[in-house]
Amino acid sequence: MTCELISVGTELLLGNILNTNAQYISQKLADLGVNCYLQTTVGDNPDRLEEAVRRALARADVVILTGGLGPTCDDLTKETVSAALGKKLVLDEDSLAHIRRRFAKMGREMTPNNVKQAEFPEGCAILPNPHGTAPGCIIEHDGKAAILLPGPPNEMEPMFDASVMPYLEKRSGTKLYSRMVRIFGKGESSVEYELRDLMDGTNPTVAPYALLGEVKLRVTARCRSEREGEKLVAPVIAEIRRRLGAVVYSDEGRELHEVCAELLLGHKKTLAVAESCTGGMLASRLVSVPGSSRWFLEGCVTYANDAKARRLGVSTDTLASCGAVSGQTALEMARGIRRTSGADVGLAITGIAGPDGGTPEKPVGLVYIALASGEVEQVTELRFTGGRERIRNSACLNALDMLRRSF
Ligand code: AMP
Ligand code: MG
Repeated sequence: MTCELISVGTELLLGNILNTNAQYISQKLADLGVNCYLQTTVGDNPDRLEEAVRRALARADVVILTGGLGPTCDDLTKETVSAALGKKLVLDEDSLAHIRRRFAKMGREMTPNNVKQAEFPEGCAILPNPHGTAPGCIIEHDGKAAILLPGPPNEMEPMFDASVMPYLEKRSGTKLYSRMVRIFGKGESSVEYELRDLMDGTNPTVAPYALLGEVKLRVTARCRSEREGEKLVAPVIAEIRRRLGAVVYSDEGRELHEVCAELLLGHKKTLAVAESCTGGMLASRLVSVPGSSRWFLEGCVTYANDAKARRLGVSTDTLASCGAVSGQTALEMARGIRRTSGADVGLAITGIAGPDGGTPEKPVGLVYIALASGEVEQVTELRFTGGRERIRNSACLNALDMLRRSF
């Protein structure tokens, strides 16, 4: 099956906007294994558009158009494609009602030219647009198909995923099945080095994405069913796990804090956290997990030295001799929050997020993380680079990773 794209809009030809729709759709087609050999960009001109449509339909099985579905007179994709296919435009009452409701909801008056957005080539399938007024449509004709989608990416992308992807999967007889492997504690280049041969594979494909302090790997199989997809993907994920070991924390795309939540719940353990430089970021991330009240007891932001002593019982001697940013303080914070909260596990962070406050011995980015759980106590010293937010985020992720690995 081959597919062509036609991007409609004079603003694209003038370079006023970037053609992100073409990029979005091309990536999805490539994932699906659908060949796309040609893409056309054409302005809001009916003759040139009609010619582009005729040519594309002569070559490809499916032609996807974006743009020109709006209410204004330069929006003429539907009219032009209908003319090229010799189809009449007919009013769709459901779409008209949808457009009316949207205007009413926004408290705006619907001008008569908006009715045009509810007119479709006869016999087509209409694609709902929950994010805008202009629905899309799929017109089948002589064994070929033209798919018309709105121009605004925030409308086009969800419509593509919800309506076009299933259509293309069915038509091409292939499905995509993917799982996301998440890695913490290993850089992208080192992950790539260890998995290079797997990344050369074509089914499944293994594609890396680097995030702040993390690496994601999307393992995607082309398949006929979910079961077949899982069969193709599972051995590759097992091999990734075998090579990378404990740095893999999820192969179902979960976040680090979600994995921690599952572990705490599974082991019936409760948690309390004490934070200095992260100022509640860790607690906030943990309570973003639904149902966190079952295992999260409390979080304490102890910023001043006095707060660390008063709330958590960090000894004034420790604060005086080792300083607020030290392994000993972190450990006493973890012990303190565990004792005062009654939680099974206490987790603490103290560090220098910058940009000021660093010294040669204790530079900006120095962070200590400590965990107290049962008989186990752990402290780690970390040195991060980057700005304040990056350092605070890295501190949180490392604290969560320490928690995860303690099980
Ligand atoms: P239209 O449906 O042609 O009226 O397009 C509405 C708006 O969608 C345009 O003004 C652009 O901001 C955006 N748009 C249209 N086509 C594209 C495209 N190919 N890529 C990204 N944005 C687009
Ligand atoms: Mg336009």
